[in-house]
Amino acid sequence: MSYDKDNIFAKIIRGEISCDKIYEDDFVLSFKDIRPQAPSHALIIPKGNYLDINDFSLNASDNEIIGFNRAIAKVADMLGISENSGGNGYRVIANAGNDAHQEVPHLHFHLLAGRPLGPMVFPEKPN
Ligand code: AMP
Repeated sequence: MSYDKDNIFAKIIRGEISCDKIYEDDFVLSFKDIRPQAPSHALIIPKGNYLDINDFSLNASDNEIIGFNRAIAKVADMLGISENSGGNGYRVIANAGNDAHQEVPHLHFHLLAGRPLGPMVFPEKPN
C-alpha cells in the first residue's frame, strides 16, 4: 500500500481537522484518541508521511526517529502516566497492517494508561 495523503491523520497535521492536542514539536504531534480504550489514551504521530512503523523504521531519517522516540517519554511524563512522573505505567501499541487491525494508514503509537491493562494480546481465536 502506498501512503494516502488524505488520510485523517495527515489532515490533522495540516490543520484541516481539529484534534485535542497534547504536544507538538518539529517531528511529532500528539493528541487524544477520539475513542479512548483506557482512562488515558494518547496518540503520537510523526509529521512525516509514513504508513506504519515498518515504513518509518526503514525510511525515516535518524533525526525523525530520535525525535519520535524522545516524544514518547515527553508525552508520558506530561500526562503523568510514566512511573517517572508519578504514574502507574503505560502501554505502547503500534498496529501495522491488516492482522494488527491498523485503521488509519499513517504511523501512530497508542499510549494507554490509567487502569490495569490486562494481558498484552487478546486473541480472537486460541493459537
Ligand atoms: P489503529 O487501529 O491502530 O489504526 O487506530 C486508529 C485510532 O485512531 C483509533 O483508536 C481511533 O479511535 C483513532 N482515531 C481515528 N480518528 C481520529 C481522530 N479524528 N482523532 C483522534 N483519534 C482518532
